[in-house]
This record gives sequence, structure tokens and C-alpha cells, in this order.
Amino acid sequence: MSTAVCPGSFDPITLGHLDIIERSTYIYDKVVVGVADNPAKRALFNIEERVAMAEDAIAGLGNIVVTPFDGLLVGFAKENGAQVIIKGLRAISDFEHEFQMAHLNKKLDGSIETVFMMASPEFMFLSSSAVKEIAAFGGDLTGLVAQTTAARLERKLQE
Ligand code: ADP
Repeated sequence: MSTAVCPGSFDPITLGHLDIIERSTYIYDKVVVGVADNPAKRALFNIEERVAMAEDAIAGLGNIVVTPFDGLLVGFAKENGAQVIIKGLRAISDFEHEFQMAHLNKKLDGSIETVFMMASPEFMFLSSSAVKEIAAFGGDLTGLVAQTTAARLERKLQE
């Protein structure tokens, strides 16, 4: 069975992330959405909230599990029996960092490949940070995040 890991902070999960996750399910038998719990990255949502939002957003899609992780990504991939790490690539700015990470992960565990998937044009400029900024100013999140995510963002910002 082929298994791929789609890692990220998902603070919050966007339709851009979901597009990569769904397209991954057409290629691999099982997709593990790995939600990174990295306290160094100050997230708006805690790990439980980010996992719950991802679970709500993937409802209706098959062969996907959402799992939090801390520690090394290659270790998480191995624990989940994944052979592949999938990364979405947006503009050129993603490339340098992802290129470095892919090589470092390969050095840490030569048996795990990083595969890059091009962002769909409509999500090329979408990021979690942009979503948070739009939400903070009361902008319309339609077409950027799932409705369940938009509702949670609204609640969070009211807190
Ligand atoms: P962000 O970069 O928005 O903070 P993450 O750290 O959660 O989000 O990103 C996880 C992965 O998803 C990365 O590989 C990133 O390149 C990819 N990704 C993020 N936004 C998009 C998008 N709009 N389209 C395609 N891939 C994306």
C-alpha cells in the first residue's frame, strides 16, 4: 500500500491545502495529513483546534487521516508507513526553503522521497497568514477556506 504524508501547520487549513491533499489521494492509497505541533511557530489555533479544523474540512474525502505530530517529519512519515512526503509549491518563493528541506530530509532518511505538487492557479496566492489577515478585518473568506473553517475563525476572533 502506498502512503503519503502531507505535512503543515494548517493554522488554519485552506482550500489550497485541501486541493493538494485531495489530489494526493488520486495518486496514493492513503494520505496522512500531519499537523505539526511546533511551539516555536506561534500559531493562532492550538494543535487540537488545527486538527479538528482539518478533520472537518476533509469530511467527505476518502482515504485520509489527520494526525498531529512533533519531532522530525521523516520520523513521523516512517511511523505512519509513508514512503513519500508531499509538498505544495506556490510561487518561486516557496522553492528555496522547500528545496533545502527536501535535501535535509533525504539526508536524514534516504528511504523517504519528497514529491512536489504545483499549486492550482486559483490557490497560488493563498496562504494561512493571508486568510488570518482577511478574517481579522472581517473580509469574505468564501473560496479561500471551508465554511467550517471560516466559522471557527470567526469564533476565534471574537474570543
Ligand atoms: P503556510 O505555508 O500557508 O503557512 P503550511 O505550513 O501549513 O502553510 O503549509 C503546508 C504545505 O502546504 C506546504 O508544503 C505549503 O507549500 C503548502 N501550501 C500552503 N498553501 C498552499 C496553497 N495555497 N496551494 C498549494 N500548497 C500550499
